This record gives sequence, structure tokens and C-alpha cells, in this order.
Amino acid sequence: MANTDTDTIAAISTPVGEGGISIIRISGDDALKVAEKIYKGKDLEKVASHTINYGHIIDPDSGQEVDEVMVSVMRAPRTYTCEDVVEINCHGGLLATNRILQLVLSFGARMAEPGEFTKRAFLNGRIDLSQSEAVMDLIRAKTDKSMKVALTQLDGDLSRLIRHLRRDILDVLAQVEVNIDYPEYDAVEEMTTKMLKEKAEEIQQRIEALLKTAKQGKVLREGLATAIIGRPNVGKSSLLNTLLHEDKAIVTDVAGTTRDVIEEYVNVNGVPLKLIDTAGIRETDDTVEKIGVERSKKALDAADLILLLIDSSTELTAEDRELLDATAGKQRIVILNKTDLPRKVELDQLKEIVGSDAVIETSIVNHAGMDQLGERISTMFFDEGIESSQNNVMVTNARHIGLLRQADEALTDVLKGIADNMPVDLVQIDMTRCWEMLGEITGDSYQDELLDQLFSQFCLGK
Ligand code: GDP
Repeated sequence: MANTDTDTIAAISTPVGEGGISIIRISGDDALKVAEKIYKGKDLEKVASHTINYGHIIDPDSGQEVDEVMVSVMRAPRTYTCEDVVEINCHGGLLATNRILQLVLSFGARMAEPGEFTKRAFLNGRIDLSQSEAVMDLIRAKTDKSMKVALTQLDGDLSRLIRHLRRDILDVLAQVEVNIDYPEYDAVEEMTTKMLKEKAEEIQQRIEALLKTAKQGKVLREGLATAIIGRPNVGKSSLLNTLLHEDKAIVTDVAGTTRDVIEEYVNVNGVPLKLIDTAGIRETDDTVEKIGVERSKKALDAADLILLLIDSSTELTAEDRELLDATAGKQRIVILNKTDLPRKVELDQLKEIVGSDAVIETSIVNHAGMDQLGERISTMFFDEGIESSQNNVMVTNARHIGLLRQADEALTDVLKGIADNMPVDLVQIDMTRCWEMLGEITGDSYQDELLDQLFSQFCLGK
């Protein structure tokens, strides 16, 4: 039987593994009934909503006790999904948790798909699409700032901005209709196009202001792919370790992959850096594998930001020059390291080659220059100040950015149409397109495939 959006669903909502507590979440019309079948304690179907109840999970077939639990009962509609929700808090072992899930599944619930609880919150009208996406962003947030952006979005700030825009567009469209319907007045056409032009320009400005936040938003959300490169012995692993220790790195294991793609994130002055090929940098004992010029070059392609180290205590080598050449024109910071040692490379000499202000002097072993490096990284990416963006709203999601761009293009077409003296009803079509694109951000207009694709990226149990 095909899954439907009205089945009662269940999943383990906490990370799988040993922990203090695990939570099995059940949502749907039969949530209470299912739980009641395997629970010994108060009658769950009679307890007050939003209460937590002590009892035991019993396997009804064998009569055996499975675990001692606390069961939260939350009745629709004031729940995460807007449906009846039961959460079984059990002891956080793998065995008990899975056993309880199995019981829940054999007594009437079906396994939830990834993100299905949140999808229901959306389908039942509790949150809109951009808010649902914010839930995922929040889970994955790497720094305080990315969390703040996700929370703002979850609160619906982006949605409100988009809805205002849509309402204003609708007002314009309505006004155009009225004018078209009463053509007996003189100069009505001229008035209409003038109004359309002014409004389209104003709305376009607002959309473009939002788009401007996208670059920073993407960095906050996904982390800035950063490569630490340089010939052997310049101090790459020292820099890596300093960054990791100072900033309490978050290490995430990418599911189903090997150690090579462990992603390490560090937070440098509010910028989450996603460090590329940290495994390569660490393999310093093996001289063959030692990250050298070739491996450095490979990391370049994947990087948004390059930290290129140069050893100030030895003359510039051909390898240094090769890497300087290979990174010219990219977003890079050249780090002149080991400044505690007698100099062979001077700052001025290096600046002649790299130009501009992108050289930072450090003595990594002495932790000197690390603050300047941090400041340089943050000004490179937040030069307009992250706090000063439009009402603190930032667009961070690739799907939203794509739609905003299309909305922006539709407005460019509106303005072009007006400039070319196109009939008003044709211009109106482009204006309507803009309205529709914006609607897809909040999910006011959406397609089923989009929903499936979107929610499938969620964690199981959310
Ligand atoms: P990698 O091969 O580029 O990863 O370089 P390492 O980080 O392994 O550093 C090579 C050597 O240089 C190690 O012995 C470090 O302790 C030393 N080193 C790194 N940074 C500095 C520095 O700022 N000053 C001095 N004097 N030595 C450093």
C-alpha cells in the first residue's frame, strides 16, 4: 500500500547510538492508540494533553518488560505536526530503542520517511516551506551566527518579507486591472504604465537587496570551503591544529564514507570554515604522501578560500612560486609564517609578487598573527557587516536564491516591456510570474515533487 500523508508514522528522533535518552516519536490519528497497546501505566488515551507520564513498555506478545519510560502525550492541534503526537523517552541504548520502535511499527504505525514530521507540519499549515527548511538549517548550523539566521527564518521573518512583496505585487496587478476596465478616462494607459514602472522598480530593489545577502548566507549555511596549502614544512598542519584547538572544531562524519571525507569545521570570527583535505595535511610522517604541491593544487579547485603558507625563514622556492601563480586571481590569503626565525623572505618582497593587502605575517608556534588572520577572513566575507542586512533577514538557501533570481528577471522583463511600449496586459504576465516565483519560496504555490525532494534531505525522525 502506498504511503499516505494521513498514516500514523513513527521514527527514532534522537541520534542512533548510546546515550542517556532516546526518543521514539509517533504522530497521527492513531498515535495514542498505538502507544497504549505497548504501554503499562496510566491510560494514555485519558491523560491530559501535554503531559509526561511514567510507565513501562511491555511486549504484548510475550508479556515481557522492554524498558522503563516517560511518555509525552500531546494532542492535536498544538503539536509539532498539528496531529496527535506521542514521544516515548526510553533509556538510550540501541537495543531498547530499536525494540520499542519495532513494537510501535507492529502495532499500527508505519516508519516515517526522512523529514516527514516536518512535512506534516507544513501540510497541516503550521509552518511554511521556508520555515521547514530553516528547521533543517538549524540542525546543521555550524556557528552561532548560522544558527541565528536559521532561527530568524524559522520565526518566519523571511516569509513575512516575501509575503509583503507578494501582497504589493498583487496590489499593483489589481490596480492595473481596474485601470484596464475603465479605459474611458483620459490618459489611463499612461498612468498605468507609469505606476507599473515605479512599483516594479521599487519591488526589484527589495528583491535585489535580499539577493545581496545570499553570498554571506551561503557561507554561513554551508561553511566556506577552505584549503590550507603550501609546500612541505611551511606550517600547514601547525596552522590546522591551531585553528582546530582554538576554535573547538566540529567534526562531522559524512554518512557512508571513509575517513578521507571527514569534514572539519572551524569557526573563525563567525565565519564557518569547512577545511578541505585535512587528512592529507595530517599525513606528515609519510614523506611520499606528504601534502606537497600536487596535492595542494588538487585542493584548489574545490576551495572558496585559499590559505597559502610561505616560510619566511627560507628563500622562496620554485614550488612556492608555482603555488603563488596557481592561486593568483582566487580568493586567497598568503600567510608568511615562521616570522620568529631569521628572515629570508621579507614582507615587501612578497607583496611585490602578490600585490594588495592579502599577506598576513604569523608565527604559528607562538600563536602570533592569528587574530589578524581571523580579522582578515571575516572582513573578506562580511565587509558590509553581517548584522546590518535587511531586518536581519538573510537568504541562505540555494532554492530560495534561485527563485529570487527568477523573480528578479521577471521584473527586468516587466521594465523592458514598459520601455518597449508593450501592451499592458503583456507586461502584466511578467509581473504575475514574479508573484508566482516568490510564492514558491514560502510554498504558497508548490508542486508535490518539490516537497518530496525537499523533505527527503531531512534527518530521519524530524
Ligand atoms: P607542514 O608540512 O606544512 O604541515 O608543516 P608543519 O606544520 O608540520 O611544520 C613543519 C615544522 O615547522 C614543524 O617542526 C613546526 O613545529 C615548525 N613550525 C611551524 N610553524 C612555525 C613557526 O611559526 N615558527 C617556527 N619556528 N617553526 C614553525
